Amino acid sequence: DVKSRTQLVLMVPWLAHGHVTPYLELAKKLSKTNLFFIYFCSTPIILNSINQENLPKNIQLIEFPLPSSPLLPSHQHTTNGLPKNLLSTLIQTFGGAGSTFANILDSLCPDLLIFDGYQPWAPELASSRKIPAIDFLIIGTASVSFFYHHYLYAGKREFPFSGTFLKDYEAKQLQLTAEMNISIGPDVAFNGLEKSHEIILINTCNEIEGKYVDYLSTLSNKKVIPVGPLIREMGTTTENEENSKIIQWLDKKDESSCVYVSFGSEYFLSKEEIEEIAHSLELSELNFIWVVRLPLGEDTNIENALPKGFLDRVEGKGVIVEKWAPQARILEHPSVGGFLCHCGWNSILESLHFGVPLITMPMHLDQHTHSRMAVELGTAMEVVRDDKNGKLNKEETAKVIRNVVTEKNGGENVKAKVKEFRKKIREKREEEFDQVVNKLVDLSTKNKQTVNT
Ligand code: UDP
Repeated sequence: DVKSRTQLVLMVPWLAHGHVTPYLELAKKLSKTNLFFIYFCSTPIILNSINQENLPKNIQLIEFPLPSSPLLPSHQHTTNGLPKNLLSTLIQTFGGAGSTFANILDSLCPDLLIFDGYQPWAPELASSRKIPAIDFLIIGTASVSFFYHHYLYAGKREFPFSGTFLKDYEAKQLQLTAEMNISIGPDVAFNGLEKSHEIILINTCNEIEGKYVDYLSTLSNKKVIPVGPLIREMGTTTENEENSKIIQWLDKKDESSCVYVSFGSEYFLSKEEIEEIAHSLELSELNFIWVVRLPLGEDTNIENALPKGFLDRVEGKGVIVEKWAPQARILEHPSVGGFLCHCGWNSILESLHFGVPLITMPMHLDQHTHSRMAVELGTAMEVVRDDKNGKLNKEETAKVIRNVVTEKNGGENVKAKVKEFRKKIREKREEEFDQVVNKLVDLSTKNKQTVNT
């Protein structure tokens, strides 16, 4: 039996697309070594969204039913598409899932647990059963270390890397996030870091964020081990007519002549933001593909949300994709010369992996620090907003987009840098991952021995 010869690893991502993807990629990478059998545990809605056909035999999906909550409709048990006020309900609901998780632990008896944020019960329940629990973080290390630094020193000590400082309006926004976190329960945000057993895994690599990895190790007093960049495998996107049309449209455009615009799977643009971005794209006079997602429950007619006559004016030059685009395939296409991006961590890693220069427009949370990090790396130009109120300015935005895509006024340096990183990442040696594997085998074997004696 495969399971008795390998280490049993239980993985539990947070309930959002941007978390499930890197968790699944890590699961696949670990499964390839044939040293682990992986239980991949999530809600039925999330598991159904995974393409199970290509899943290796040593990954088994395990259903984790959420406790029911009168405030949270059952079809919305994932952050993707959740209105803001339901996000904290989801965090609270998941926070109360400890007893369900205890049953899962007791029926599977894993040798190792790899857990995510907003799961305060995970490390406690595991350690009471002598199972080592490892936190796997899926956001950038610059951001994690920035926020953890502020949590620990509360303004008494300066963050040592100036490139990731926040502007006034961003600090105000983050204060609101901090207040939301406090209302959920103090320490939930950093619980994983502090409770992780000996090591912390993170989806990055030293080539991109080495100094932040070192700093987070110092702050947390644990070995922080980069396991990335984990990028969703090609071929996992379902082939449909709409996707093919997008690629055929790109095929007809000149090399590096198009900008791809996306704000990830969780952020909804306000009407004002939609208008500003539309005008900026028009002013830039470039080809574009823009993924527009309107909040659930609101008027879903995109034409109404866009400026009057916009679609007619950009015909042939621009494509609006509703809800979801095959991002990896688009970024891989040679006609794409820039990515106007909200700075979700997966998107940043994908831009580096596919060598697409970034135009960053961070919207909230960790996106601001991700953006500063990408600018510091030299792989991005950030859209300038009003320092005080954070408002966008269409002329400015259009200028930055043009500079990056047409490789002018510094845009040429961004292009060169992103190519350099693409090469570095692709040449990364697998020995580094072997060390991760050895450490995980070591931790889980120790557990097997303790349990058996
Ligand atoms: N994504 C996609 N198509 C879309 C929007 C997003 O394929 O229309 C993918 C994208 O490639 C990335 C993930 O969804 O892998 C979004 O994660 P990210 O961390 O960038 O942002 P989040 O959605 O967490 O804000």
